Amino acid sequence: MYTPSAIDFCSRCGHRTHLALPDDGDTRQRAICTHCGFIHYQNPLNVVGTIPVADDGRILLCKRNIEPRWGTWTLPAGFMELNETLEEGAARETDEEAGADIEMGRLFSIISVPHVGQVHIYFCARLRSLEFAPGIETIEARLFAPDEIPWETLSFRTVALTLRRFLADPHSTQVHCLSL
Ligand SMILES: [Zn+2]
Repeated sequence: MYTPSAIDFCSRCGHRTHLALPDDGDTRQRAICTHCGFIHYQNPLNVVGTIPVADDGRILLCKRNIEPRWGTWTLPAGFMELNETLEEGAARETDEEAGADIEMGRLFSIISVPHVGQVHIYFCARLRSLEFAPGIETIEARLFAPDEIPWETLSFRTVALTLRRFLADPHSTQVHCLSL
């Protein structure tokens, strides 16, 4: 069970909060401000990314230059920002982490990760170029043939699950709705 981080002080007025059930029919306790009554809702975050594939079938992975899991390999992905669509977020993360020129493809996987309060969403993407310009968050961006995937040093279970499902049937149009 994911326990939300404690919110001790109101984000609006700075006074103390207390945990209580809002009186609007809500079913969960929330941090409610004892001064202004503001209710602090905490909800899952979306992580958006891509499976960037070259025309020869190789897949682009990025070696992380940030914690958590520094030095492990990941698909380009990150937290969705406000005022962007899923596809825009996935494209932005692919650009920031790999500097890859992609053509966005179909939705591939939606993975609920309730124990960390996240949903991970991956799109297929076609690499238009094999030149990469990784940003500060990435040590190295390189292509891996399906039989070269570094399964032992992948960053996250959602990355491994997405890659496994993709490689099992790269041309399927099925959307994989999964949970960890
Ligand atoms: Zn307040």
